[in-house]
Amino acid sequence: MPLHRLEPLLTAERVERLRATVDAARGLLDRRTVWNVNSTARGGGVAEMLHTLVAYAAGAGVDTRWLVVDGDPEFFAVTKRIHNRLHGVRGDDGRLDAGARATYDATLARQRDEVVDRVRPGDVVLLHDPQVAGLACHLRDRGAVVVWRCHVGQDDHNEWTREAWGFLRELVEPAQACVFSREAFAPDWVDRRWLRVIPPSLDPFSPKNADLRADEVEALVRRDGLVVEGAPLPTDGRVVLQVSRWDRLKDMGGVLAAFGEHVRLLPDDVHLVLAGPQTDGVADDPGAAEVLADCRDLWHALPPRARDRSHLVSVPMDDLDDNARVVNALQRWSTVVVQKSLAEGFGLTVTEPMWKGRPVVASAVGGIRDQVEDGVSGVLLDDPRDGAALVAALAPLLEDADRRREMGRAAHLRVRDHYLADRHLIQYAELFAQLVG
Ligand code: UDP
Repeated sequence: MPLHRLEPLLTAERVERLRATVDAARGLLDRRTVWNVNSTARGGGVAEMLHTLVAYAAGAGVDTRWLVVDGDPEFFAVTKRIHNRLHGVRGDDGRLDAGARATYDATLARQRDEVVDRVRPGDVVLLHDPQVAGLACHLRDRGAVVVWRCHVGQDDHNEWTREAWGFLRELVEPAQACVFSREAFAPDWVDRRWLRVIPPSLDPFSPKNADLRADEVEALVRRDGLVVEGAPLPTDGRVVLQVSRWDRLKDMGGVLAAFGEHVRLLPDDVHLVLAGPQTDGVADDPGAAEVLADCRDLWHALPPRARDRSHLVSVPMDDLDDNARVVNALQRWSTVVVQKSLAEGFGLTVTEPMWKGRPVVASAVGGIRDQVEDGVSGVLLDDPRDGAALVAALAPLLEDADRRREMGRAAHLRVRDHYLADRHLIQYAELFAQLVG
């Protein structure tokens, strides 16, 4: 994907800086490959971002590849536990003890050679998230330059985050540099000289974000089979949308419960749409089917007045571009987008609707606090568990089209100024220059 595609969106100064940085990086990385390694090719923010960044970097003439490490359910149960605990919650009853470590090591050991043998000494390897952190020492032994990028975390460390960091420390320490979406996510043992804060970005031209005509939006939203619970999506009225993986930390159930309890505070034509991926589509997200099933139960238990206006949507995952276009259409079709996460490293599901000029109401947690300026480019909710506060924030916004327009415009500019790929690529290029230069 050619980088110049981005140029019409950027100021002359940004274009110049991007060109200069990429030219320098191309020279520096000559005869080196930049590898990205993670544990899923689809579903979630990391895969979403890698599709774009790998394509842009390749388009800029940097040899960039992406490897996906596979795992069995036991492995993903352990990595989900780490994921939850990095977000400060226990998640399940299991421990991150020697047994968990043995499960983790066994899966990586099976695939280690496949990754390590492809990498040449001097190559740069970006390991994404806890699932692949355990490859760092083997890649260092191979002579690679290793960066571990952690996409999750939370500012306040507690017993659960400490347990997860205790598990990860030995795995991560061989990496020469660590990247976080927010500095406060990093545990204190990460060497501050080699810690970089690089927030994610989105691609305005991807199927997830590219402009859609009104008739395309209509056709995508009206697709047969999307709604798994509730009436067909409404043809008029106002729509509140949350798009997320079916993960407890996204609190889809909390949105539904808040709607059920406080629906009287909202105008009569307001509908709630909760959309997530088909639950058999994402290998590294154990528990998704259970979370969706719980939401379905909650939906059935809603008072009729709220149930008639709530819709659970399952977006097919067989064709990723198609999945992205449906999400794109839902975001464009909605009136206000919600992200009631209980914890969030960085929410692409916040940045995506902002790019589309949608006002968002989101929990003031993790990276979302950087993404949204409260009252300007969206509304932040201090207490992510407070359903009444969510509805109280939605009600005036749903009544005020001018405020929505203004907030949507500010939201779009916020993304343009901070969350496009040029900033992201420049930050990577600068880090690589420091590591290999
Ligand atoms: N997503 C999607 N289909 C769905 C649900 C989510 O494509 O049915 C995408 C969503 O648009 C976003 C990503 O998955 O690009 C989620 O990224 P985010 O950073 O919000 O959270 P994560 O899932 O990584 O925790």
